[in-house]
Amino acid sequence: MSDTLETADAEVWPYPIRYGQVKKFESDVVVLGGGIAGVWSAIGAARQGAKVILVEKTVTARSGAGGAGCDHWQWAADNPCSSVSPEELTQALIDNQGGYRNGVSTYIQCASAYQALLEMEQMGGKVRDVDDEFKGAPFRDDASKLVFAYDYDARFVLRVWGNDYKLLLRKECRRLGVKIIDRVAVTGLLTKDGETGAQVIGATGVNTRTGEFNLFKAGAVISCMSRPQRNWTFSSEMRGVSTFRPPTNVGNGHAMAWRAGAEFTMMEKSMRSPFASPYSYPSYGVGNAINTWFACNIVDANGKEVPWVDCNGEVITNFDQRYRPARGQKFFIMGGGSSSHPHPGLKEYAGPKLTPDLAERMEKGEFTPPFYADLTSMPDHERRVIWGLNVGEEGKTRIPILQTYSEAGFDPEQDMLQTYDFLRGSGMREPVTPQERTFGEQGICGGMVVDWDLMSTLPGLFGAGDLIYGSQDHSHAAATGRYVGRRAALFAVSQQNEQCSQEQIEAEMERVYAPLGNGSINGNPGMDWKELNAALCRVMQNYCSEPKNAELLDLAETWLDDIAENEAPKMVADNPHKLMRALDVLDILTCDRMIVHACKARKASNTHLHFNRLDYPEMDPPEWHKWITIRRDGNGDGNGATVGEMPIAPWGDFESNYQARI
Ligand SMILES: Cc1cc2nc3c(=O)[nH]c(=O)nc-3n(C[C@H](O)[C@H](O)[C@H](O)COP(=O)(O)OP(=O)(O)OC[C@H]3O[C@@H](n4cnc5c(N)ncnc54)[C@H](O)[C@@H]3O)c2cc1C
Repeated sequence: MSDTLETADAEVWPYPIRYGQVKKFESDVVVLGGGIAGVWSAIGAARQGAKVILVEKTVTARSGAGGAGCDHWQWAADNPCSSVSPEELTQALIDNQGGYRNGVSTYIQCASAYQALLEMEQMGGKVRDVDDEFKGAPFRDDASKLVFAYDYDARFVLRVWGNDYKLLLRKECRRLGVKIIDRVAVTGLLTKDGETGAQVIGATGVNTRTGEFNLFKAGAVISCMSRPQRNWTFSSEMRGVSTFRPPTNVGNGHAMAWRAGAEFTMMEKSMRSPFASPYSYPSYGVGNAINTWFACNIVDANGKEVPWVDCNGEVITNFDQRYRPARGQKFFIMGGGSSSHPHPGLKEYAGPKLTPDLAERMEKGEFTPPFYADLTSMPDHERRVIWGLNVGEEGKTRIPILQTYSEAGFDPEQDMLQTYDFLRGSGMREPVTPQERTFGEQGICGGMVVDWDLMSTLPGLFGAGDLIYGSQDHSHAAATGRYVGRRAALFAVSQQNEQCSQEQIEAEMERVYAPLGNGSINGNPGMDWKELNAALCRVMQNYCSEPKNAELLDLAETWLDDIAENEAPKMVADNPHKLMRALDVLDILTCDRMIVHACKARKASNTHLHFNRLDYPEMDPPEWHKWITIRRDGNGDGNGATVGEMPIAPWGDFESNYQARI
């Protein structure tokens, strides 16, 4: 093929074109995805002495949801100030999700997040208030200079200065000899003899600048490609900075593991969320009182303060009590209301929040909108820690919010920030329509089933970070990455040198390059990747929205099959970048199919999974309190699913399983 390329708009593509050329790599461990879990996995495996290659679709320096920062180091129950043990915190986090949270990876997080943070400190990351900026503050341990968030008694969530962590982790990868390959989108997994359901022995990828095909052969493969997004809504034009997670995380890891035959669970969960709405605001950039902004004063248009209540519904009169457990409560999880993580949660672990009857009281005239986050009336330490540390180190806030607002003259000692909450009763951001749903954009979601080695149901395929079912958080990605790196490296040394199946490689090359053979966007026929993404979103909005029944889900399946057969083949890519986009949308289609399979399989409504079956209206029947699993059924057209189940707590004893593997 030609080495230069003219794109549809007659601009010359600035990189050499190498479609069809194959470059081969070999290593003990290959890490797929260079986000937080990916870099920690690579570090863990390299420290074990393994030869490691890390493949990243974008640029490892800042890629992924945690690339721009992190202000909360969650659930570090192993830190010396925590009053709660890893076992107790893990169980509380699981119970708070009604059981639908991954006990294995959550325990790894609770038992080793602080150890990971200490390693972050050794790499040069700031994890303590070394400059004594918050000396004497109630959230600071003056001996260790660690600073905490939310529950100032329990002290298991740390505030950290994470804006440069990703750069430091990449540096550590390089120091340990990890070969980092940026701008290669992983497209598929290679299995022994090319069989579905067999051992995973490598992966394939396509360079997003040159279109070159890459082959990665390895003794163990760690998938760290986060989760599906863009299944119900997508608009590159409307969202911009308001997009929460990077829209390049589309569930490639889910789709390729599905094709290879791995098992998944919790794929039926999706929820209404402003994180899916094109009308949402830049993250943490409008006034609110939760998460990064916890526990900011909120006032109405006349300066009247909105009251806070505790989990017992008692009004909190003492400001400091916003950061302490309520009467009869041992500790609380997060705070500010459940709307940032909109699951029902347990009263037992509910944090202080703004009074829930605010909407009614506003309608009666007791409070007058608009409302404002009022940093000016906060105690000095609290004001500076929110507007400074939290807004500043949090992912995506340092430049868009802290720097931009400050340069525009915003002064937290004098100015208030308007909040658009409350008018329709929600917390952090305005509520949305039922079909503005998220899958991986927010919260705990479905993913790959893993065991105590964090290995999937396919030997040789491991997972870490947000890709694992029922998990989330930056510290979770760090802790699970660090742990799985070792497990995968140990697995790799015991492996034979398996040969890749040439047939499987050729089939993947044909699949990957198919969008190039479809004419040009300006000439007919042809369809842009955005158009196909929009069509898929419509199917999910119409037939897999909040109200579900067998008929709607059958229609979803029919439409997805129809689009896969008749429309997707028309998608056109005229350069390597658009080729990556086109492949992403094909994977979104695969993820949609997985979601619909799982929705069909759960024949019961479920509060915690935000799952409403009109044809099975009883909420949470006890016989359905279990995980539904799906894996690809390779028979027939290969698009069916084999359905199974797991007991709600399949992990056994936390400590002994964990200790045996570290
Ligand atoms: C704005 C924001 C703020 C947050 N703040 C916090 C916080 O303060 N505390 C906290 O605990 N959590 C926070 N989170 C969540 C946290 O960032 C994530 O839980 C964490 O990044 C998950 O790590 P991960 O490695 O699984 O995924 P990511 O960090 O998203 O990494 C996934 C990587 O895979 C790559 N990838 C995807 N597909 C492919 C492919 N086909 N080929 C190659 N590479 C691929 C991506 O480019 C990306 O680099 C925040 C998230 C956001 C968006």
